[in-house]
Amino acid sequence: MPKKDKKTEASELKEKLFMKRQNTGLAMSEQDIAKADKFCEGYKAFLDTGKTEREACAEAVRLAEAAGFVPFDKNANYKAGDRVYLNNRGKAIILAVIGKKSVENGVNLVAAHIDSPRLDLKQNPLYENEGLAYFKTHYYGGIKKYQWPVTPLALHGVIYKADGSRVDVKLGEDENDPVLVVTDILPHLADEQYKRPVAKVITGEELNILIGSRPFRDDKASEAVKLGIMCILNEKYGITESDFISAELECVPAFKAKDVGFDRSMVGAYGQDDRVCAYTALEAILAIKGAPNLTAVTCLTDKEEIGSEGNTGLRSAYLKYFLYDLGAMYGVDGRTVLSNSKCLSADVNAAFDPTFSEPFEKLNASFAGRGVVITKYTGARGKSGTNDSSAEYVSEIRQMLDKDGVIWQTGELGKVDFGGGGTVAMYIANLDINTIDVGVPVLSMHAPFEVTAKNDVYMAYKAFRTFFKN
Ligand code: MN
Ligand code: MN
Repeated sequence: MPKKDKKTEASELKEKLFMKRQNTGLAMSEQDIAKADKFCEGYKAFLDTGKTEREACAEAVRLAEAAGFVPFDKNANYKAGDRVYLNNRGKAIILAVIGKKSVENGVNLVAAHIDSPRLDLKQNPLYENEGLAYFKTHYYGGIKKYQWPVTPLALHGVIYKADGSRVDVKLGEDENDPVLVVTDILPHLADEQYKRPVAKVITGEELNILIGSRPFRDDKASEAVKLGIMCILNEKYGITESDFISAELECVPAFKAKDVGFDRSMVGAYGQDDRVCAYTALEAILAIKGAPNLTAVTCLTDKEEIGSEGNTGLRSAYLKYFLYDLGAMYGVDGRTVLSNSKCLSADVNAAFDPTFSEPFEKLNASFAGRGVVITKYTGARGKSGTNDSSAEYVSEIRQMLDKDGVIWQTGELGKVDFGGGGTVAMYIANLDINTIDVGVPVLSMHAPFEVTAKNDVYMAYKAFRTFFKN
């Protein structure tokens, strides 16, 4: 008997002293799991509707307006509970619900990004080679280039014609649409390709998209296939070749979001980094009823995948200007609003992959199905290029999540010196805002088909809901 008692004591102490890692599949109630499944139906629809930053922004505007948000007017006077949004050039959006307390106390900000890695068309993309027509591409964001050939691609974007009129392009998404594709060499003739280092199995200049093969029916014309394609493009979109120069055309996987697994516990789709946090952050602000304590702000930004540069990325001043305008409305210094604000930088982390465990350090990795991830720092090497959030702020956030029963885990992006990455966290923290990364663990991040666990998606939503209530 005493022996058994000792064991009980040890297990009691373990229970009390050791860090718990919860599996959402066991820790969540069946009702909550059903809610997670239902929530992810809306999430999958959002992924299918918003495959580019422009489309995700337009969908966010549509959902915001349906939920009573109106375009932000910096000369207006808003009262607590008013719902506004600012559309930044159709590629980024800021939504806010005015709080009961003055913005002198800062705002609660959740920031996610709506751009994802993809193949952009070059500005002069169209050519013909040996009777086949192609588009030249320039990849956007960090991709493993070998993952992009031989997968059906859709073309999304806008073209501005010589007269300034705009044409929207969306080809390859409808059941009856054709798709486009990058080809690869057959294994029989790949001996030389196999000798290339993996990063060069397919090179950037080999990511050429096959778009046609039938020549314009005139024996004497050269580049007859290119001409045939140009005729179709002219008929369909009213464009000429030089209009590509003022176009933004993005090739993305043509397939739709799907459930993954016999148990349907996961979502597989393109662009989950970071639309999984964008959708949850958006739904969290749309779900606010009445006036929150502090003004709630969701920012869905562009350009994160290429370093947040450009006027629709978070290294630009657009978020700061918005918060300054909000302050000015109530006679509060912009810098006071910034310094008193808090931010969850809502971005994904790498989920531990048992098949590729080597780059992960298990004690500090995040796992699919174990809840939303708090990432104190990202970066590379000696914490270079990161917002290393403070212990004080981590403490505040963990208490907040625990209090509301949000299942969360800690995460670091891989082993030390194995690579690294960053998020928008540091750019927001640079505005003197307390910031930490909070998001969903993703398997196969940046691949054409990324995987998340539905319970984690729901926990991210709950985390952002909770944050806005504080
Ligand atoms: Mn991301
Ligand atoms: Mn990314």
